[in-house]
Amino acid sequence: MSAAAATRAVGAGSVIEVLNPATGELAGTVPECSVEQVQEMVATARQAQPAWEALGFEGRALVLRRARRWVMQNADRLAQTLISETGKTEEDARFVDIYYAAAALDFWATHAKRYLHEQKVRSGSPFLLGRQLRVRYSPVGVVGVIGPWNYPLVNSFGDCVPAVAAGNAVILKPSEVTPLSSLVMKDGLRECGMPEGVFQVAVGRGEAGAALIDHVDFVMFTGSTATGKNVAARAAATLTPVGLELGGKDPMIVLGDADVERAAINAVQAGLGNAGQTCIVVERIYVEGSVYDEFVAKVLDKVKALRQGVPGPRGSTDIGAMIFPPQLEIVDYHVKDALAKGARVLCGGHRRGGDGSFYEPTVLVDVDHSMACMREETFGPTLPIMKVDGVAEAVKLANDSPYGLQASVWTRDLGKANQLVDALQAGVVTVNDAQANYFGLELPMGGWKSSGLGARHGPDGIRKSLQEEVSGGGEARAAPAAVCDALLNLANAGVAGVREVDVRRIARDAMTFAYVIVGARSGTTCPSPSLASITGGCSCPGERCSGDAPSWSSPGDASTCVQTTNRWSGSSTRSRSERRDGDRH
Ligand code: NDP
Repeated sequence: MSAAAATRAVGAGSVIEVLNPATGELAGTVPECSVEQVQEMVATARQAQPAWEALGFEGRALVLRRARRWVMQNADRLAQTLISETGKTEEDARFVDIYYAAAALDFWATHAKRYLHEQKVRSGSPFLLGRQLRVRYSPVGVVGVIGPWNYPLVNSFGDCVPAVAAGNAVILKPSEVTPLSSLVMKDGLRECGMPEGVFQVAVGRGEAGAALIDHVDFVMFTGSTATGKNVAARAAATLTPVGLELGGKDPMIVLGDADVERAAINAVQAGLGNAGQTCIVVERIYVEGSVYDEFVAKVLDKVKALRQGVPGPRGSTDIGAMIFPPQLEIVDYHVKDALAKGARVLCGGHRRGGDGSFYEPTVLVDVDHSMACMREETFGPTLPIMKVDGVAEAVKLANDSPYGLQASVWTRDLGKANQLVDALQAGVVTVNDAQANYFGLELPMGGWKSSGLGARHGPDGIRKSLQEEVSGGGEARAAPAAVCDALLNLANAGVAGVREVDVRRIARDAMTFAYVIVGARSGTTCPSPSLASITGGCSCPGERCSGDAPSWSSPGDASTCVQTTNRWSGSSTRSRSERRDGDRH
C-alpha cells in the first residue's frame, strides 16, 4: 500500500484515500472497485458497445469534440484536481495533462476515420490476381486501459481516446495513487453525450487491473517494465492482445558543435519537468569533452535557480512533488549509490524535510556505468552528466541499456545527427529537441527493447485496438488457385519453352477470368494438359496444340503465344483488341 493512497474499510466495501503528495493532506476518497465490480463493468461495456460503434465515425467525433470543448471550459477544475492528487505545478498540469487531453480528443475525432477506412490492397502474387482484396478494421469490443500515476490525463485517459474513437467501449483503471482526474473526465464525457457504459473508470489496485485483463478484448498498459511483464503474462492466458508502454532510461548526447545554451535549457526542462516523473524524461547525459565544462556550468546555473515547493499560483513554482512517495527511495538510492562510487553532487542531492514528498533537483557529475543512476530508471529530478571522448563512445554508452524508449542528439551538423539517429537503439530519436515529438499525435511513439510493445499515436495508436479483417475474391475464389497452380507448373518446368509467365486479369467481370502467357516460343505444342482440363477445351490452330488443350492464338509476334482461358463464363471468344483493352484495366 502506498503512502499516497491508503485503503480504509467502509461498511461492506472499502474506499481509497487519495493524499496530496505536496502537503500530505487528503485530496479525496473514492470507493475501491472489487474484482466482481470490474467484471460487472465489463458486462455493462459489452452491452453499450454495439450502439456506440453503430454511431459511426461522425457520430462519435461529435461527442469527442464536445468533450474537447468541455476540457477547455473546465480547465480550472481539472487543474485543481490534478494538482491536488499529484502535487505537480500548475504549468505541468495545464500545459501537459490538460493540453494533451484536449488535443487527443480533437486529433482522434478528426483522424480516426482516415486511419481506419477500408483499404484496397494490390498483391503481386499470381494466386491473387483478379481478386478484390480489402482490409477492414473493426473494434475489438471492450478495451481495458491501465495507467500510471505520473500524467493521469496523458498516459491513462489519453490512451482511452483512440480506443473509443474507434468504436470500442473502454474501462480505465487509473493508478490508485491518482484516480481523481479520471473520474472528473468520466463526468465530463457523460455531460457531452457519451452513452452510459462506453467509458467507465474502475478505481482499484493491482488486483482490479489483473481482473480487467482477464475479461477485456485488448489491454493498453502504461507503467513499469516489471508490471508490464506481469500484464503480458496474464494476458497470454486468454490470448488477449496487449499494448505496452513501459519504462525508459533516455540518453541525451551533446556533441562538441552543439548549441550549448539550447542543450542546457532542454536538459533542465526535459530532465526535471514534472519533477523528472516523465516516461520520456532525460535520464542521463553524455557530453563531448570540448563543451563539457560549459554545458555543466550552464545546467548548474539553471538548476540552482529553480523554485521547488507546494504548487502555488501560476508562475510561482518550477518543480513540484514526487507523486508516489515510495519513488523517493529509488531516487535517494541512486544518488547515494553514485556518491559511494565516486560521483559528485553539484547541487541538490537530498530529500526535502516537511510534510510533502520532495526531492531536490540534483546535478551529478563524474558518473559512469557502474552506477545505478546511469543504468536503472530513476524517475526523479536528477541529471547525471558524463564526459565522453567522442561520438562512438557516446553511442556505445547510450545503447548500453535494457531500455530503448527515446534518445536525443544535440549538434549543428544534421548529417552527423542522422548517423546517430540510425545508430541509437530507441523508438524515437530527436535532434536538438527532447520531447516535442510527444505532441505530434501523427507520429508513432513507442519503445524498443524493454521499453514496450507497440506504439501510441499515429495509425498504429488506433489500429491496435481493432481487429483486422481481410476480404477478397468473391465468387471466383476457388478456381483461379487451380489455374495459377497450372501456370506455376508451366513456368517451373520450363515446359514448351515458356521463358516468362505474365498472368494478368483481362476481364473485369467477376465471373470471368482470363490469363495471358507471354514468352513461349512459337511452334510449340500446348504445354499444359492440366491447364486444359481446367479451362475446358482447346481451339488453337494446327500443330500448336493438339487435343484437349486451351485456346491459343498468336498475337502476331512469332516468339509470343497468347493463351486465353475462360473458366467461368463459358464464352472464351474475344478479339485481340478486346484482350488488349482488358489488359489495360
Ligand atoms: P506500475 O507498473 O507500478 O503501475 C502501473 C499501473 O498498473 C497502475 O495502475 C497499477 O495499479 C497497475 N498494476 C499494478 N500491478 C498490476 C497487475 N499485476 N496487473 C495489472 N495492473 C497492475 O507503474 P507506476 O504507476 O509506478 O508508473 C511509473 C512507471 O510508468 C515508470 O516505469 C515509467 O517509466 C512508466 N511510464 C511509461 C510511459 C511510456 O509511455 N512508456 C509513460 C508513463 C510512465 P496500482 O497503482 O494500483 O498499483
